[in-house]
Amino acid sequence: MVAHSSDGLSATAPVTGGDVLVDARVSIEEKPPRSLDSTQQATEEERVQLPTVDAFRRAIPPHCFERDLTRSLRYLVQDFAALAFLYFALPVFEYFGLFGYLAWNVLMGVFGFALFVVGHDCLHGSFSDNQVLNDIIGHIAFSPLFSPYFPWQKSHKLHHAFTNHIDKDHGHVWIQDKDWEKMPTWKKLFNPMPFSGWLKWFPVYTLFGFCDGSHFWPYSSLFVRDSERVQCVISGVCCVACAYVALAIAGSYSNWFWYYWVPLSFFGCMLVIVTYLQHADEVAEVYEADEWSFVRGQTQTIDRFYGFGLDETMHHITDGHVAHHFFNKIPHYHLIEATEGVKKVLEPLFETQYGYKYQVNYDFFVRFLWFNIKLDYLVHKTKGILQFRTTLEEKAKAK
Ligand SMILES: [Zn+2]
Ligand SMILES: [Zn+2]
Repeated sequence: MVAHSSDGLSATAPVTGGDVLVDARVSIEEKPPRSLDSTQQATEEERVQLPTVDAFRRAIPPHCFERDLTRSLRYLVQDFAALAFLYFALPVFEYFGLFGYLAWNVLMGVFGFALFVVGHDCLHGSFSDNQVLNDIIGHIAFSPLFSPYFPWQKSHKLHHAFTNHIDKDHGHVWIQDKDWEKMPTWKKLFNPMPFSGWLKWFPVYTLFGFCDGSHFWPYSSLFVRDSERVQCVISGVCCVACAYVALAIAGSYSNWFWYYWVPLSFFGCMLVIVTYLQHADEVAEVYEADEWSFVRGQTQTIDRFYGFGLDETMHHITDGHVAHHFFNKIPHYHLIEATEGVKKVLEPLFETQYGYKYQVNYDFFVRFLWFNIKLDYLVHKTKGILQFRTTLEEKAKAK
């Protein structure tokens, strides 16, 4: 099936029985949204003619779409080697007491996330040309991180296919005013809690299934076909097997907890910070079905430069995320070059809602904590277009 906006003008990513084809190879013609109610004012941005996906494709050098198995494997080995080195160097860190242990966990989280990005290439098919090999390597990268590969592939592809769609974007909780009113107080308080970042990936998102369905339970709402349920069991068994091997090596539950589970929670926190900041921002818009289109949704993605060598270490998924969203078949090592092409296409839209969004965020951790407090819920900006409450209130005050 192909999802259409109600005006019939904006084609979106094709979807077949739950499997999402998100390569965006189709040419998508963006047209101005349908006319608004007479009580509403059409804004300047809404009249903007957006570029087609093909326009972005033409602006990106063709070699950026090529996968190099040797190079991909090199990054896989590099990230595993970094994690192995950190285990080897653990006594040096522990020499510095609690501070050393904390620093070790932060580094484990960063390099764990780097390994996750390599697995992320596998699920998009950008690790190599062979998808069976991609799936095997993907499990090798994801399972030690207690991240079920096939289920996350499913939810993540839906995120790509419906980015910033109020109802269909997976992995992001787009909370509206009506949801906020009904939300229990403990849930409202959970997000702003600084420690919540350590719990959101596991157990909140992948095990409990808030908000996309459990990634470990084969009968959760995430899966619609038996083959997906079988895949869920395969990936889940791989995760549990890795955790069991870690326990056998650790020799005790206490060691397992402090040297496997705690660093794993730092990886989860890093993942939550990066994925949250890629799409949550004061300027971002979210669209209802009638206003949403593939290109429009992707233009709300934000590239962020974290600094401190983190962007290179985490394979530029931070500052190359916009390009990744337009073409997820581009391997991570071509994202920065591809970003230059994306920037060129978006340049004429610089002053509109759809320009290229980039921020230098050395303060990424504080920003993550602050946005979790500030960006509480979305309200309607105009019909079918939503923005965070605080953004619209600030705009109203500035007038
Ligand atoms: Zn994303
Ligand atoms: Zn992706």
